[in-house]
Amino acid sequence: MRWSAQELDVEQPSTLPGLARLSNLVRSVQTPEFAGMTFHEVLAKSALNKVPSQSTMPFEWTINPYRGCSHACVYCFARPSHGYLDLNTGEDFDRQLIVKTNVAEVLRTELRRPSWQRHPVALGTNTDPYQRAEGRYALMPGIIDALVGGGTPFSILTKGTLLRRDLAQIADAARTVPVSIAMSIAIYDDTLQQSIEPGTPSTTARLATVTAVREAGLNCSVFLMPILPFLTDTKAHLDEALRRAQAAGATSVVYTSLFLRPGVREWFMHWLGEEHPQLLPRYTQLYAGGAYAPKEYRRWLADRIEPLIRAHGLQRGETSPATGGVAPPVGGRAQAAATPVRAEPTLF
Ligand code: SF4
Repeated sequence: MRWSAQELDVEQPSTLPGLARLSNLVRSVQTPEFAGMTFHEVLAKSALNKVPSQSTMPFEWTINPYRGCSHACVYCFARPSHGYLDLNTGEDFDRQLIVKTNVAEVLRTELRRPSWQRHPVALGTNTDPYQRAEGRYALMPGIIDALVGGGTPFSILTKGTLLRRDLAQIADAARTVPVSIAMSIAIYDDTLQQSIEPGTPSTTARLATVTAVREAGLNCSVFLMPILPFLTDTKAHLDEALRRAQAAGATSVVYTSLFLRPGVREWFMHWLGEEHPQLLPRYTQLYAGGAYAPKEYRRWLADRIEPLIRAHGLQRGETSPATGGVAPPVGGRAQAAATPVRAEPTLF
């Protein structure tokens, strides 16, 4: 029974005024295994989130079993989503987690509706479904089971090595519905990785997860995202990143430069000022025009990285209309996927 391991937990009366307004809050919990963190367990009213129609994302639906993320990446673009219920987008995002304990049950009901069109569903596009809390709550097996039962394709993007726990189930799922898996691994300098992604598994452990995904018969893309200007955009770092991704068995790579939307920018700049103060003026100048690095920088980065991608025998990941994630590589070095690999049209 899922709850039996929680006897040591300390139940907290919700002291957060915003959370107290939640009619579906069951309890707030702290536990010695997760020092400094609080889990706010809620009964979700819905599991499927519709992506706004103006979005350029290649999928229309997402599922987020958790809000907030203990991986605590300083650059996380989901931080502003925590600004509701009086939670802040800094430490609260990392430590005050909303857990939708009934997400799989609700999802099952939603997928049974005659109106459900079996569009691809993306997991891991807002917060990480395999963050540490998943070791405690084990929500993903139920979600995957519900998606397969509902004939619904899905994609998973994660930094969590906990994905390995569910690999056999995911490989099985891929025999019934289209599935795509991607590991997010952007930093190949251990000191920098621990500083900017303090709650994540190491780069080495994530690369080993890529290998495990491949050994399970699935394709696995590596997301080199975000590339940090002046920190991880050197030729040496990019070359090392691609070399290790290739050696781990990545079937493609996807990259983009740092995106600093309001709510993230302040948190990131604070970190930069503490850790790399000499770079503050350069970042201030580079991001003076908005959340994206300027076009000139992005073009410069593409000119630098794309020959390296080719030199390492990798492919740049393309969007899969079948899963909303990354398409299987066409030809090349990939092993057979668990589902037949179809040649799929490129969206961009
Ligand atoms: S793993 Fe993803 S969702 Fe979690 S903090 Fe890092 S960037 Fe955000």
